[in-house]
Amino acid sequence: MMLPIVAIIGRPNVGKSALVNRLSGEQDAIVYDEPGITRDRTYRPAFWQDREFQIVDTGGLVFDDDTEFLPFIREQAQAALAEAVAAIFVVDGQMGLTAGDEEIAAWLRTQNVPTVLAVNKCESEKQGLSQAAEFWNLGLGEPYPLSAIHGNGTAELLNDLIQYLPTMDEIEDTEEIKVAIIGRPNVGKSSLLNALTGENRSIVSPVSGTTRDAIDMVIERNGKAYRLIDTAGIRRKKNVDYGAEFFGINRAFKAIKRADVVLFVIDVLDGVTEQDLKLAGRIIEEGRAAVIIANKWDAVEKDSHTIYEYQKMLDDRLFFMEWAERLFVSAMTGKRVDNILDLVDNAAEGHKKRVSTAVINEVIEEAVKWHSPPTTRQGKQGRIYYGTQVTSKPPTIALFVNDPKRLDNNYRRYMEKQFRQQLGFKGTPLKLLWRGKRLREGENMGGTRATKV
Ligand code: GDP
Repeated sequence: MMLPIVAIIGRPNVGKSALVNRLSGEQDAIVYDEPGITRDRTYRPAFWQDREFQIVDTGGLVFDDDTEFLPFIREQAQAALAEAVAAIFVVDGQMGLTAGDEEIAAWLRTQNVPTVLAVNKCESEKQGLSQAAEFWNLGLGEPYPLSAIHGNGTAELLNDLIQYLPTMDEIEDTEEIKVAIIGRPNVGKSSLLNALTGENRSIVSPVSGTTRDAIDMVIERNGKAYRLIDTAGIRRKKNVDYGAEFFGINRAFKAIKRADVVLFVIDVLDGVTEQDLKLAGRIIEEGRAAVIIANKWDAVEKDSHTIYEYQKMLDDRLFFMEWAERLFVSAMTGKRVDNILDLVDNAAEGHKKRVSTAVINEVIEEAVKWHSPPTTRQGKQGRIYYGTQVTSKPPTIALFVNDPKRLDNNYRRYMEKQFRQQLGFKGTPLKLLWRGKRLREGENMGGTRATKV
């Protein structure tokens, strides 16, 4: 779930980092706040009353100085603001109103992002009010005197801020599906990106991602938003030398990590290669949902058997991803490209699905009736006491059993199949955790000496 972002903006040394630490409850982090420090934006989780959000700090913002870092810092602040639902503008109450503050305020007023004004370093409440008063001049509404170090005054600021933050229900409703287009070079990722963002859909906007240079694109269909992750890493402009790293595997790994659903693109002309398997392995390790896109279908000479042969090839090579739906497409002619987002919807649905403990136990009970757990050579039978879904994305079910060793791989596969058949979980990995009863050494169970599991 993507929490709304609040950007912290202000000149160097006004105490932005201290405020971030205060709001995210991490007072121990190092407080440093200098202009020109090139750092990636970091996101810290925070909450106030019933709202959750994340705070992103920006480098100290200066407009009147001409150091080489300036454009970069401004860009950072701009990028942070672009994805923020609100901003906290921090000024220094001890120093008073400066020309730099006025410039930032003027800039903020053009940015269309609601802003609350924090007057920091007001340790004493009485003095604070008079220190804060002159900041009314900034035209950004009420200045809130506070002390990031001591914590006083932050409640008033947050009470004002939360009017701009969506409730958890609203967040769920407007949630975008994050999609990463992943594949070896030349399988057709950028062609596919072009086909997906083609004329039929309204492109909402290119927006900056969470890592520097990562540009996402948001497309919309049937009122649903899809964030295509790191499209900058896919697109290549002619005559621009980005260097090998730009399209490298690490970049793909990062995109997988950020995604809900991976469009795993393979080139049907090459089949499933070793490199493809490496990417597939990573998708599973990260627990991402996936759709297999078998591209360049137009270039295959077909007769009535061809599709079955290719299906079988995928079954064989990607047997460990049998849960993933697949589609034979042509990014070039556009064939079946329109179906891709339907499968993305299914996969995203399965990925975030939650099932109640009662239903899970019904499935277990039924499954055990049809096929009881195996008995070991020593005559000991496996038993499943109960199960419960512990998390989603990917759905993860913990099964409490007498001894995990008694439930062999065959039986585990059988149970997974039962969950999938009865409960869906389309397009997503499903994790089963087999938890043994923890017994203390020497404790007795049913007359036999139990061993620790
Ligand atoms: P990327 O490296 O994965 O982004 O791959 P590109 O999109 O740049 O495509 C690599 C090559 O494959 C280009 O020459 C494309 O024209 C070609 N290509 C992409 N999609 C298709 C397709 O559906 N059919 C055919 N025949 N060629 C394609």
